Amino acid sequence: MRRPLVIGNWKMHGTRKSNLDLIAQIQVGLNSNQNCDVAVCVPFVAIPEASTAVANSSLGLGSQNIANAEQGAYTGEVSASMLAEYQCKYALVGHSERRQIYLENDELVASRYDFAIKGGLIPVLCIGETDDEREQGKTFDVVEKQLSAVIEHYGVESLSKAVLAYEPVWAIGTGKTATPEQAQEVHAFIRQLIAKQNAAIAENLIILYGGSVKPDNAKELFGQADIDGGLIGGASLQADSFLAIVNAA
Ligand code: PEP
Repeated sequence: MRRPLVIGNWKMHGTRKSNLDLIAQIQVGLNSNQNCDVAVCVPFVAIPEASTAVANSSLGLGSQNIANAEQGAYTGEVSASMLAEYQCKYALVGHSERRQIYLENDELVASRYDFAIKGGLIPVLCIGETDDEREQGKTFDVVEKQLSAVIEHYGVESLSKAVLAYEPVWAIGTGKTATPEQAQEVHAFIRQLIAKQNAAIAENLIILYGGSVKPDNAKELFGQADIDGGLIGGASLQADSFLAIVNAA
């Protein structure tokens, strides 16, 4: 039985004060016997204060990226051990904004994924097709290629220490959500692909959906057989909408 998971991706938003206020508001609204894991991936500079704020609570903490090295001459990067010192549990890798704006390719993303695991963090590997790729009927090919980069380098077993997020790029921050059927079709495809190599890992793998999830569409999306929760951008910046999505999960 997979335990649902909802992760907020705050992207490059917030101030020291608004970040702490948002964490406090989320904590007030979280139910102590919540049947769902909940975390927020905050900007790097917010991690130290967020770490103190979430200590001893059921709210988990994550980063929005992670270095593909442990230490050394990697200007601008933050390593797994640095993040682990602040009790980060999750690290997003391969978010479409990293792939598109910062040109991170499958090899780099796979290496970040590996360093997250080696450092004891759970990588949340983001995969998904663009609008054009969907139009051209390439959705399955794209997600298979993005996933294969990780499996070929680090083995299907590595997925037992990871979370996947299917995020159609055309649905991120656009207000255009995949229909529950469209999302389920891809989630099922991903799980079947992994099951061909290891059925147990496929069965236990948490696969999140991300892309304009809102309180009014979350329940139907999360009700699909292979959707185990969500990666939430815009709607995670307000406690009430984020908590409504958590409750839907
Ligand atoms: C995201 O950034 O991962 C995301 C899904 O954003 P939004 O919910 O705003 O589409």
